[in-house]
Amino acid sequence: MSGEAPGETLDDLVVANHILYAEGVVDGFGHVSTRHPERPDRFLLARSMAPALVAADDLMEFDLDGNATGGDTRTPYVERFIHGAIYKARHDVTAVVHSHSPSVIPFGVTGGSLRPIYHMSGFLGAGAPIFEIRNAGGMTDMLIRDNALGDALARTLGRGAVALMRGHGSVAVGFSIKQVVYRAIYTEMNARLQMEASRLGAIEFLAPEEARLAAAMNDTVLERPWELWKRKVEVGK
Ligand SMILES: [Zn+2]
Repeated sequence: MSGEAPGETLDDLVVANHILYAEGVVDGFGHVSTRHPERPDRFLLARSMAPALVAADDLMEFDLDGNATGGDTRTPYVERFIHGAIYKARHDVTAVVHSHSPSVIPFGVTGGSLRPIYHMSGFLGAGAPIFEIRNAGGMTDMLIRDNALGDALARTLGRGAVALMRGHGSVAVGFSIKQVVYRAIYTEMNARLQMEASRLGAIEFLAPEEARLAAAMNDTVLERPWELWKRKVEVGK
């Protein structure tokens, strides 16, 4: 349990789990975490379960090495190391989404760069880097199951908002739960649109400066889609 964390944070994290499922970013797999608002050396993440079913009681608290705190013995996600490693490397990051959202997968396996095709995904900047797990761990089951792999993924992410994981999925980071949910949803959408556009011809992507300006603008209106997505999952209950 994470009883010390403010209720609003817990509520938003639960809602984020449900939104990401409703918007097709996660299914039975994938997860979203937030840094503990009062303990920057800890983060909150559900126990190992389908995101759509997460309730406040399912949230666990971890240190940045991925150890559950407070003697919590419930089964955690194998890939919790993704979250801790990124929080360690990126002090600006407050929330992380890891997913296997389908439209992104082709870009991770072909080296085709996922770049911002429209203003909604300006946060992709000059394009999302691709994490090659073989370079970090040789032959693996593709999962980020320890801190060494988590650290390697965080290095590939660098200062970016999104990194693709070859043959696996992607990770998005944000300065808030609302921003990371926005980024995860529009990463999937950008991938789908980029694939469609590529069949029509050469794509004129946003220039890096256009991407930067668009991302800054969208960061001022994160509440608007959040309220809509939240309403949808509440109505659907
Ligand atoms: Zn995964």
